[in-house]
Formats: sequence, C-alpha cells, structure tokens
Amino acid sequence: MFPRRMKFILWFTCFVFIFCEWLVYYLVIFQCSWPELSPEDKQNNPEPLNVMLLSDPHLLGTQDGHWFDKLRREWQMERAFQTAATILQPEVVFVLGDLFDEGMKCNDEEFDDYVNRFRKMFRHSEDVHLHVTIGNHDIGFHDIASSNEKNYQRFSKAFNIPDVGLFQIKGNVFVTVNSIGLEGDNCTMCESSVNAIKQVANKLHCNDRNQRSLRRNLIKELAKKEECELPFDAPLPILVQHFPLYRKSESKCSGIDAPPPEEMKKENRPKWEVVSEEATSLLLKSFMPRLVLSGHTHHGCYVIHEDGTPELTIPSFSWRNRNNPSFIMAVITPKKFLLSKCFIPQENTVIAIYVFSAIVLVIASASVLKAYLKSLQRKLLRMLQERPSKPTQRYY
Ligand SMILES: [Zn+2]
Repeated sequence: MFPRRMKFILWFTCFVFIFCEWLVYYLVIFQCSWPELSPEDKQNNPEPLNVMLLSDPHLLGTQDGHWFDKLRREWQMERAFQTAATILQPEVVFVLGDLFDEGMKCNDEEFDDYVNRFRKMFRHSEDVHLHVTIGNHDIGFHDIASSNEKNYQRFSKAFNIPDVGLFQIKGNVFVTVNSIGLEGDNCTMCESSVNAIKQVANKLHCNDRNQRSLRRNLIKELAKKEECELPFDAPLPILVQHFPLYRKSESKCSGIDAPPPEEMKKENRPKWEVVSEEATSLLLKSFMPRLVLSGHTHHGCYVIHEDGTPELTIPSFSWRNRNNPSFIMAVITPKKFLLSKCFIPQENTVIAIYVFSAIVLVIASASVLKAYLKSLQRKLLRMLQERPSKPTQRYY
C-alpha cells in the first residue's frame, strides 16, 4: 500500500512537470493552422509563402528583472517557438524588434551573451529565413541611439540588418525599415535611413519609370530601358518595422488582445508609441506597401490607414508582457495575403495546473504519511507485545 502511493506521487509529479513544460505547447499550438487560400487563388498561386511573425520577446538582461523571471520566460518562449517551428514549419520568420530588454544599456560582453541566447532560443533549420528588425529596446529610443551609434552598429552587424532591407521570396517583396531612424533630425543614423528609403523606393518604382518612358518614346521607338532589380510583375511590397505607423490612438483596435479600454483612450505620442505623421507619409508614399506589419505596443491591433493601407500590429511574444502571447501565421502570394493568429499557452492556465497538482500532491502525501505513521504504530505495538516480561523477584 505504502510503496504504491509513493509511486503514484512520483509519477504524478513527473507527468505534471512534463505536461506543463513540454506537452502543453504541442497541445495548444497543434490547434493552429495556416489560413487556407481559396481553390481559385491556389490555382493562380501554386506556391504560397508561409511566414511566421512575432514581436517584442524582450530577453531579460543583467540589470532589470529577477533571474527566475528570465529563466522562466525564456524557457516558455523557446518551447513555444521550437514547438511552432516543428508543427507548422514556416518558411520565413520575422521578429519585429525589441529582441532584448536591455540592448540599449548592456556592455559588449552582455550583448554577445544576448545574441547567443537569442540564437539558441530561436534556432531553426537552414532552409528557414529568419529576419529581424530593430526595436527601441535593442538600441535605445532615438536620443540614445543617435548619441551612441555603437548600439545601432553592433545590433545591425550581429543580425546583418541594412538601414532599409529589400528582398524577394517566392515572388513576394519585403521591405524592412529601422523605424528608430525616422526622427527626421539629420542625425547620422536618420540621414542614412532616409537615404536608404529613397534608394529602395527608386528600385521599387524602376519598372513604373520604364513603363512611362516606354510610352513617351513609343513613337520614336527610342525607349531606353533602365536595368531594374525587381521583375516587371513584382507585387507591391510588405513593409515590416518595429514602430507602428502614425495613428492618433489605439481606439480603433479590436480583438481579444487589443489594448485595454483605458489605454485606448490615450493619445499616441509620435516617435514614442508610433512613428511621426511626416515619417508615415514618407513611408507610404515611398513604398506604397500592400500591408504593414509592426510591433512595439505589446498589444494586437489591425487598422486601415486613410489611404487604405492595412496594418497589423503584433503583440508581444513574452509572458512577461501579457498573459496570452501569440504569433502571426501569414500565407502570402504576390496577389494575396491571409493572416491568422496563433495563441500560445496562457500562463494562468499553466499556473492553475501547477496549483491544482500541488493540492493533489499535498493530499496524497498526507495520506502516505498517515499510512506510514499507522504502520509505525503497529510495529511498535507488536514489538512491545513480543518483548519478554522480567521475572518478579520475591523476598521472603
Ligand atoms: Zn518597442
């Protein structure tokens, strides 16, 4: 009886631990699936691109936060990412900035440790492309980043990030921007960002220029074609950056991970919560994106800008910032994009399982202890009964 109960306690403890630290991620993420293209879209685009997007993991540093907080949250993010990568097998992964919580104030040694931890947590197979954008916690808000360009340089170098990135995957065009460099004050970082925006816009509009020039010169048949980097039928780009584009407030955000009502009422501060109106206008006019993807606010938000451009702000991937973190699963073709959100296990649920299991264990242990004490009592009684009694001496 007693060993059987002990065995139950051991097995139960192991099962609860394995369930909460490994299995729960499979159980929850297994329920997510890539959005489905219609049969017609499938026929037109036989090779859609499966993209996973997450934002603001905020890996803790040495100065803020508790070591257990760091250990716990990094383990959770690693398990969630590795499980998602195994089950869903994305072809491209974007991490939309604020990779590190203390990137703007850590020394080089701590930064190297950060990079190694990030690479370990978000490890992936060689055929998966992982792209990173720069966040304010990685290099500091504009004032810190522009006065200490070393932060910007070491982060860009570690993750091979240009001022403005332009790349094509399966016919889709992506543009990544350092949104910290959009202050518009002629600091070195801002100047190179604006120059890079112009250069990339030039590449994006190369085919349009050729088209116009061809029409002008059709009669003379002297059309001079410019060499373009992108193919003639390249679609409009998808813009990926850390800060959301300008929006007055978060009042139009909806969904279960939208900001709470009190935050929705607040007005956004340009260059803090969102990029400025001027920078927004520059980005929209330069790139004419078909979709904008951003992070930074830690909440989910889908909005349509005045010119009709849709923007999805992706919530934080860390349990430190919210109870219901998630990532985005996007199926993208040159003509279409479909977005869906995959929620990873809620911390409350995991804690509730641990608390419930602890109560079961306390009850089981108490019953084991009771059984042990009873058997001990029985043994003692038996020993006392079996003890030979001393002969009584008689005196006459
Ligand atoms: Zn941020």
